[in-house]
Amino acid sequence: MSARSTGFVIEVPAVPSIPVEGTDQLFPVRRVYCVGRNYADHAIEMGHDPNREPPFFFQKNPDALITTGEFPYPVKSNDVHHEIELIVALGKGGSNISPDRALDHVYGYAVGLDMTRRDLQAEAKKMGRPWEIAKSFEDSAPTSVLVPASEIGHPSKGAIWLDVNGTRRQTGDLAQMIWNVPDTIAYLSEFFTLAPGDVIMTGTPAGVGAVERGDEISGGVEGVGTIEVRVV
Ligand code: MN
Repeated sequence: MSARSTGFVIEVPAVPSIPVEGTDQLFPVRRVYCVGRNYADHAIEMGHDPNREPPFFFQKNPDALITTGEFPYPVKSNDVHHEIELIVALGKGGSNISPDRALDHVYGYAVGLDMTRRDLQAEAKKMGRPWEIAKSFEDSAPTSVLVPASEIGHPSKGAIWLDVNGTRRQTGDLAQMIWNVPDTIAYLSEFFTLAPGDVIMTGTPAGVGAVERGDEISGGVEGVGTIEVRVV
């Protein structure tokens, strides 16, 4: 902005945000980092080696986070998958954060869905292309309300599950993460300058699968919360 500037030339976009449970306050979202293949059984089901390699990341657009309870089935795909994930919301940023201090940077946790156009992702993988059109489309990250760590602590174990129309599809335990939350924050902070408002989607356990319009998705993370989303 120059010294003569008096404002923005177009309307300032809304700040994406997640409601904080039990309050009328919002957590503003700056960036959304997602960890790929962070549960061994999901890595195996996707045809990969579950051994502990360095984590890899992709990003979703912050405005993909939605709390409307409805997931509009996206265009350009016929194979849209659910991925239930623990969401970590950072209240403090930094670079080269050490694993033993990493949890000090966490504001709270939520339960989210990393909705994925699996057909477009498979095509992108085959062509060696980036995943954006498979992962970062509109409304691709339905999320629950955020629960402050000051109320629930820092969950390192506990069930994570997802049902579609009342049938269990995904089950796992946070303790099965290949890269746990402190390690993920520490590793990510070596490559990016993290900041308050950044959120991390920490990967999904096995059992991913397709949804259809009209499906009722429900899921949760023990000690954090639940999410209910209708596919429309
Ligand atoms: Mn995912």
